[in-house]
Amino acid sequence: MARETNGNTRARSRPYDAPMSTHHASCSCGQLSVDCDGDPVRVSVCHCLSCQRRTGSVFGVQARFARERCRISGASTAHVRTGDSGGVITFHFCPACGATVHYAIDAQPDLVAIPVGAFADPGFPAPTYSVYEARQHGWVRIDGEIEHHP
Ligand SMILES: [Zn+2]
Ligand SMILES: [Zn+2]
Repeated sequence: MARETNGNTRARSRPYDAPMSTHHASCSCGQLSVDCDGDPVRVSVCHCLSCQRRTGSVFGVQARFARERCRISGASTAHVRTGDSGGVITFHFCPACGATVHYAIDAQPDLVAIPVGAFADPGFPAPTYSVYEARQHGWVRIDGEIEHHP
């Protein structure tokens, strides 16, 4: 049973009306940020070489949210990339510190993708898809309930 924290009995009797949690993403310097209401519609790991280059890590982890639930603030510079699968993606990064905080996938205009690391939240929902595993580094292991795609 959820603990009452605000005296709002309506939230208890109609749980689907309970206030949504907000996830806050930001760049390294804090200038560029996104507030997302509710949970992401998809969280995935991508091992493609483009994601490796973009992140500087050996895979990318990203969450997609409904665009209408995201509020973006701060200045950003855009970089357009054609991914390994041919899709066009526009990355928005902070011009001061360089961190990518949100990006738009041409094929999914109603969604905003956000690198999970930008949330700096170890409790963030885990990924459920792992894609481009053909390009996964040999020492990487992705465990848990997750779909694996080559
Ligand atoms: Zn920044
Ligand atoms: Zn990728």
